[in-house]
Amino acid sequence: MRDKVLAVIREKRRFLITSHQHPDGDSTGSALALQHILRRLSKEALVINTDPVPFNLTRMPLLENWIVRSELPEDFPSGYDAVFILECPNPDRTGYAGLDRGLIVNLDHHLSNSGYGNVVVIEPEAACLGKIIFAIAQGLGVPVDPETATCLYIALVTDAGQFCYANATPDSFQLAKDLVTLGARPAEVSRILYEGYSACAVKLKGLLLSTLSLEDDGRLAFLEFPLCFLKESCSAPGDAEGVIDEPRKITGVEVAVMLREVRGGLVKVSMRSQGQVDVEAVARRHAGGGHRNAAGFTISATLAEARHLILRELGRSLTS
Ligand code: 5GP
Ligand code: MN
Repeated sequence: MRDKVLAVIREKRRFLITSHQHPDGDSTGSALALQHILRRLSKEALVINTDPVPFNLTRMPLLENWIVRSELPEDFPSGYDAVFILECPNPDRTGYAGLDRGLIVNLDHHLSNSGYGNVVVIEPEAACLGKIIFAIAQGLGVPVDPETATCLYIALVTDAGQFCYANATPDSFQLAKDLVTLGARPAEVSRILYEGYSACAVKLKGLLLSTLSLEDDGRLAFLEFPLCFLKESCSAPGDAEGVIDEPRKITGVEVAVMLREVRGGLVKVSMRSQGQVDVEAVARRHAGGGHRNAAGFTISATLAEARHLILRELGRSLTS
């Protein structure tokens, strides 16, 4: 499978790279690293996304190449030989319409990927997409410089929850070792990702945590994020990144849920579970996706309606 990707890269010259809306460390790190690898081969590569990166990624290397656009470039598809779509279950998750007019290379490590596109690599056993991008660099014989290694390390450390999630396997530590050997600096990455918050983000965190409520004998935790919190804390939606992990840490909580009002009548549901509870199954029923322990979807509902729905659907999955 990977061979076909290598062949496309070798044979073609002009590439577009995009990924899912609401970018995260893996989608961003992978996209910027892939671009860098392609450029090392004297190829043209443009990274576009519909959304800016969340606050904690604004100091990552190579971010000057992250282009936010609401539409595809005017010269698409004729100006591009292939488009890489990174960790999207379907092309719609990019937020762009019409990507299927180009030659699609679909790279993912999520089971929920529908398998669209002309060249498809889906490796659910990979802890992050960055692992697949690193393998592509090695397959092409492209040297990985310290900035690219740092992007890939960010992909790994964010998707592996700072090596606290179940995907912190020997393979993940081997990848970390390789990337650190190539120049990624874990202490520096830690400061970039997990410190240096704005006062607005900390204020938002306070507001969100003040909404904490527990259901089902403390097995289900909710945070609610009404639109007015943005104004009250002078923050952006991305500033809430990681706050959902706080209720997940409460003893006895099996699932933490954050309900974010995207606009009146539209709610983004984020879920994090411990152990066996499969939140991806719930997300999938509502046209969303993710992983067993971290998944999400968007639904037309008020915050109260979304809460009722989750209570009804998740109540059944919790241990009795
Ligand atoms: P988050 O809750 O942080 O937005 O996302 C957690 C996980 O679920 C990530 O792997 C993310 O890609 C996935 N996810 C979140 N929302 C959606 C969605 O609407 N559709 C799909 N397919 N995946 C989602
Ligand atoms: Mn990922």
